[in-house]
Amino acid sequence: MHEPTAHAPVVVIGAGQAGLSVAYFLRRLGLDAGNDFVVLDRGPGPGGAWQHRWAALKIGTAHRIADLPGMEEIGVSFETADRSAPARDVVADYYGRYEEHYGLQVVRPAEVLRVVNHGTDLLTTFRDDDGEELTVGSEIVVNASGTWGAPFIPWYPGRDDFLGRQLHTADFVAAEEFAGQRVVVVGGGTSAMGFVLELEPFAAEIVWVSRRPIDWVDETADANLEGRLDAVARQDEAARAGRALPSIVSGTGIPRSRRAQQGIDRGVLVAHPMFASIEPEGVRWAPGAREDGIRRFDADAIIWATGFRPELRHLAPLRLREQAGGVVVAQGTSWRDPRVFFAGYGPQASTIGANRAGRFVARQVVASLSRIRAARKG
Ligand SMILES: Cc1cc2nc3c(=O)[nH]c(=O)nc-3n(C[C@H](O)[C@H](O)[C@H](O)COP(=O)(O)OP(=O)(O)OC[C@H]3O[C@@H](n4cnc5c(N)ncnc54)[C@H](O)[C@@H]3O)c2cc1C
Repeated sequence: MHEPTAHAPVVVIGAGQAGLSVAYFLRRLGLDAGNDFVVLDRGPGPGGAWQHRWAALKIGTAHRIADLPGMEEIGVSFETADRSAPARDVVADYYGRYEEHYGLQVVRPAEVLRVVNHGTDLLTTFRDDDGEELTVGSEIVVNASGTWGAPFIPWYPGRDDFLGRQLHTADFVAAEEFAGQRVVVVGGGTSAMGFVLELEPFAAEIVWVSRRPIDWVDETADANLEGRLDAVARQDEAARAGRALPSIVSGTGIPRSRRAQQGIDRGVLVAHPMFASIEPEGVRWAPGAREDGIRRFDADAIIWATGFRPELRHLAPLRLREQAGGVVVAQGTSWRDPRVFFAGYGPQASTIGANRAGRFVARQVVASLSRIRAARKG
């Protein structure tokens, strides 16, 4: 175990929407960035996971991106950003300005390798730009590491024998790479739909498959509000019970934007049931699975737009996981170790949820710090 080279009462892991929001509220509550709390982020630059997203994901084609708390003070808003600009560039730019304006002093690139228990302290070890391992001791750790680093690909028979290319959303760079190819897109969410539309002008043929029928929801009205609340409630319930988190898409559906509606009208956005197996040269459906009776599709590539899981590897030494696979998180903290907070976890995994988490978690952190200090004095 490394001896701590520095100490800060609070360590925040991750400078995406959730980590920045926590940092903003900690500062508002009187904590000093760089002294009372440090933010460690693995990314080469500002922007959280957004900096890694593909160029064709534009501000106008992403779901709504909520502004960070206090962003109006720096005079920018995602609401008024250029809708044709790549989301990754705009988010990186706005987050960068935000960090600077509020003096959040994010340390990067700082990849947290592990957090371990050390008596009353938690020791967070990270690797810096020179590959050196450094350790910070703290009373509290706020985990805001998001999900981008933990892509999820479900297992299907034959998956390892496929001779074509398989990639996950996290690896997608540009639709041009699939020019003239036959492509299977897997997934029932917005990313899968977006890939189908982006591939349309380039790929020779596209087959879209989803585990469940696509639930198109009216973009303007809160018609599916109940569904959304239900999805969030199910995630919250799983987080409280320590189960692996269910898919949020299953409850929220895909907004039927004008672009989506045009794709439906052109007959491009048609999702078929999942295939049953993968073969070296393509995918195969069970008899009767597809209404059109097709059983086989020869494919050059399979794109898995099948979501992400919370990235928690660095917390493994704390043994927070339950047998059911998840971490019990209630009121923003781990049930097993109340010194470990979670922001952007489960139902908070959207920009708006991350903002709310920031306010809530920061308040709890400050209250916990005073309790810890009072207990130490007493
Ligand atoms: C393709 C895609 C599109 C999406 N579109 C939208 C949308 O339009 N609107 C919306 O509200 N939500 C969207 N989401 C959900 C989105 O992920 C959240 O909105 C939000 O960006 C999550 O913020 P976060 O801070 O929790 O995570 P992230 O943005 O992932 O930030 C986590 C940060 O932690 C860092 N980190 C991770 N592990 C470590 C470690 N071990 N050490 C140090 N740092 C670490 C990462 O480098 C990253 O900077 C989308 C998600 C995906 C996958």
